[in-house]
Amino acid sequence: MNILILGSGGREHALAWKMAGSPLADKLYCAPGNAGIAREAECVALDVADHRAVIAFCQTKKIDLVVVGPEVPLCAGIVDDLEAAGIKAFGPSKWAARLEGSKGFTKDLCRANKIPTAAYERFKGAATAKDYVRKKGAPIVVKADGLAAGKGVVVAETIAEAEAAIDMMFGGGLWSPAWEIVVEDCLVGEEASFFALCDGETAIALVSAQDHKRVFDGDKGPNTGGMGAYSPAPIMTPEMNDRVMNEIIHPTVRAMKAMGAPYKGVLFAGLMITKSGPQLIEYNVRFGDPECQVLMLRLMSDLVPALLAARDGQLMNFDLRWYPDAALTVVMAAKGYPGNYAKGSLIEGLDAAGMVEGVEIFHAGTKADGNRILANGGRVLNVCARGKNVREAQQRAYAAVDRIQWPDGFCRRDIGWQAVKRET
Ligand code: AMP
Repeated sequence: MNILILGSGGREHALAWKMAGSPLADKLYCAPGNAGIAREAECVALDVADHRAVIAFCQTKKIDLVVVGPEVPLCAGIVDDLEAAGIKAFGPSKWAARLEGSKGFTKDLCRANKIPTAAYERFKGAATAKDYVRKKGAPIVVKADGLAAGKGVVVAETIAEAEAAIDMMFGGGLWSPAWEIVVEDCLVGEEASFFALCDGETAIALVSAQDHKRVFDGDKGPNTGGMGAYSPAPIMTPEMNDRVMNEIIHPTVRAMKAMGAPYKGVLFAGLMITKSGPQLIEYNVRFGDPECQVLMLRLMSDLVPALLAARDGQLMNFDLRWYPDAALTVVMAAKGYPGNYAKGSLIEGLDAAGMVEGVEIFHAGTKADGNRILANGGRVLNVCARGKNVREAQQRAYAAVDRIQWPDGFCRRDIGWQAVKRET
């Protein structure tokens, strides 16, 4: 098969690395890719937003399957356009991608199907939203509808903070003024990332993961796209797994099918495990980044037939095998991230770091300059490791981090701390 991956981050590097090991994959392409992905796939300078150009490329190169990494092209309907041109694509349709594209849509779907989620209301104007906030009290959560690259959520500790968030969102403080916001109760518990592969009708659970969103050690500082992750998440016991499938994932897949928007692809549920059980915080319609990296390290089965089965509606009798090992990834970011940062600094020591037992390094934002590797983004490297438990994976990942010479980069030193604490 000829396979095209769309995207350029650590998630796509992990997917490319896994698929490069598949006996089914003859030729791998990635658009646009990065310096690390170039080791696994031929990187092509395609504009992913230009669906016609992507289709033309697929026709020229006789692509058998397109795997879409990020949410933006999914919400823009790239899967619909590829499929209409007769090209198989893994990922949800534009209609089904509303599960990530519209928080209001997902909240209403939860309410209509009794899927556990924080109590909420939707608002199109600031005045009514503020009335609701004053009525409910703080802490309270304010969310802009629509894609906001993780920046559209404010967990407000006070009513004043919530009111400021409402004004910011309706006033254009994100990219453009929000046309609608959701205000919801603040959930208390431990967060977990849950993934299920779906074919429109059947959903099968992947292994669990947990990420670290805050930029500094001790889970402090501003939110980021994710500074590290590990799998399994100890909080996701087999019983909790079953509850999530039965109370959240299966009802969602049934509801999407019933409304004529069957969900195909990977469904990523951000969960809060509360005292009373799992609650849905949000859906994403693609693999998490950096969770995908640890999932791919733990996946024993071939990924390609799994993605094809999801696309073809054939997951009913499908089974995936996983290594029992734990996996962990440390994100190395450019100094200044998630605020302003410089691009172009030199990274050395990657080969030596890659030699540490159990270690795999995925590139999230790099560029090649001859033989040199330069930083080319905020999150730049994912230093990943497998180990018999999270502690061993953590030790290996940091041993590799310590071999990387990159004065303009930084990372958290405590990725996996909750799991390590439980293991000891
Ligand atoms: P989201 O983009 O919806 O995943 O939200 C980003 C982060 O905000 C989540 O990972 C949570 O840490 C936090 N968050 C979102 N909604 C809630 C909620 N209802 N209660 C508590 N924390 C929340």
